[in-house]
Amino acid sequence: MRCVITGGAGFLGSHLTDLILSEGHEVVVLDDLSTGSLRNLVHQISNPRLQIKTVNVRNKFEVDGPVDIVFNLASPASPPVYTQRRVDCLLINSEAVLQVAEFALAKGARLVQASTSEVYGDPLSHPQREHHWGNVNPIGERSCYDEGKRFAEALLSAMRLERGLNAGIIRIFNTYGPRMHPYDGRVISGFVRQALNNEPLTVFGDGSQTRSFCYVSDLVRGLWLMGNADHSGPINLGNPVEQSVLSMAHLIRESTNSSSEITFLPLPSDDPVRRRPDISKAKEELGWEPLIRIGEGLSQVINWQIEMQRTYSEQIS
Ligand code: NAD
Ligand code: UDP
Repeated sequence: MRCVITGGAGFLGSHLTDLILSEGHEVVVLDDLSTGSLRNLVHQISNPRLQIKTVNVRNKFEVDGPVDIVFNLASPASPPVYTQRRVDCLLINSEAVLQVAEFALAKGARLVQASTSEVYGDPLSHPQREHHWGNVNPIGERSCYDEGKRFAEALLSAMRLERGLNAGIIRIFNTYGPRMHPYDGRVISGFVRQALNNEPLTVFGDGSQTRSFCYVSDLVRGLWLMGNADHSGPINLGNPVEQSVLSMAHLIRESTNSSSEITFLPLPSDDPVRRRPDISKAKEELGWEPLIRIGEGLSQVINWQIEMQRTYSEQIS
């Protein structure tokens, strides 16, 4: 098969690229390198089944030849990043999604959309099931991302109904692993970097807010299964083991043998209080469930950051 991955040089996209190449298929990566990096794909650079195009998918783009599956992952994903480029984030999740959808239709390809647990906002039911419509502030701190992703879901659903687009929506819950940029502001990558440098771990609020963290190899396996299914979704993908942010800070400090203190900073507005996926649908429809426990996943992130700091310290600081 031949797959296109928008955002393929990013954290999730590069792992998905590795998985698809390891299955013997071809991958075309479309990425503007705004938050991703060719460093994430450097180990594949001489693979003849990989093609990388540096393009902004908000602009018109071309890919020669047949395409079987398009994975649409291009979007800023971290709160401190998307709140620095709010209009761009909204347009990537609207006009660019339209372009990607037209592209998939023209190629007769299946389209898998990387949606997010953020469509549930600060959820009113727990754990979150796909039929929860969400509790989102349309003009809040996170709205450029939440509402952008909600619009993308609406647009793809409309194109499926009106024009027969073979689209499948995946709602991704917090995912972590190697290649998540140590400075992109997300909690696990940030705490690991702080702990390895014996800097204070910055817990926002009192740290009682919860998240459920999925290891990246589990997540991209779910995306690949969705690519090969014909389900329209939405389907949650995430690890249902729920932890408070403060407990993650303690765990990461212990796992790195760090002497870092834990400091408490103000909680950003609209930061969801609780988040945990109900993954019954993923189990039933895709035969998917996560396999990697947090201790195992964390040690991969820690080892990767140590290696990154040794190799690239000047570039990533
Ligand atoms: P990432 O920032 O590492 O990857 C995003 C990639 O998209 C980057 O390589 C970036 O350069 C590229 N990109 C951004 N705008 C682009 C544009 N206009 N044209 C071309 N390329 C562009 O983030 P990630 O964590 O890998 O997230 C990937 C996708 O998964 C995003 O759509 C995100 O919303 C979604 N998601 C991720 C998580 C998570 O926990 N990692 C959770 C929910 C949803
Ligand atoms: N968080 C924190 N310290 C940090 C970064 C994040 O306490 O240095 C908190 C953040 O407020 C949120 C949780 O960790 O409650 C997860 O944040 P992340 O940005 O990783 O993901 P999201 O908020 O999008 O789920």
